[in-house]
Amino acid sequence: IVFPVTDFCKELVDELKSVCKENQQIIYTHEGDSEVCIDRHLLKNVLINLLSNASKYSDAGKQIFLRSSKKEKTVRFEVQDQGIGIPEQDQAYVFDRFFRAHNSGTIQGTGLGLNIVKKYIQLMQGEIQLTSQLNQGTTVSLDLPNC
Ligand code: ATP
Ligand code: MG
Repeated sequence: IVFPVTDFCKELVDELKSVCKENQQIIYTHEGDSEVCIDRHLLKNVLINLLSNASKYSDAGKQIFLRSSKKEKTVRFEVQDQGIGIPEQDQAYVFDRFFRAHNSGTIQGTGLGLNIVKKYIQLMQGEIQLTSQLNQGTTVSLDLPNC
């Protein structure tokens, strides 16, 4: 089923306002044609997980960016935050079940979210990449095939 990814993302951003901290806003931008064909339920779950992480691991007042863009055969999503970042030596393990980075401190979590995200991305036959700089922020990119 084809749907406009822009409307979908805007609705999601609206729903997540209640989850965000004070003055934390999710800034959404899109490039290219907006009609996509992706499993909505899996996509929604993935983006909720990534955007919740972006909020949880960033201070109040920090901005979060959600970008989508339609390429020739894929749709790309990026979730970028200006949060605590992930230590380099931990980055390889964040998709492991129950793993929590060493700087997660008192921030609550079970370490399951990204493990589920990875499984959903595999189900969608997509790719996921994470880049992070300690105390600067984290960006997660998804490339999903457009059916
Ligand atoms: P939950 O199961 O509730 O999602 P969680 O957030 O701890 O718990 P994951 O989402 O799987 O678990 O993330 C794993 C770990 O990776 C986190 O505990 C945290 O240390 C680190 N992490 C994930 N996303 C970010 C981010 N955006 N910024 C900084 N650290 C992050
Ligand atoms: Mg999480």
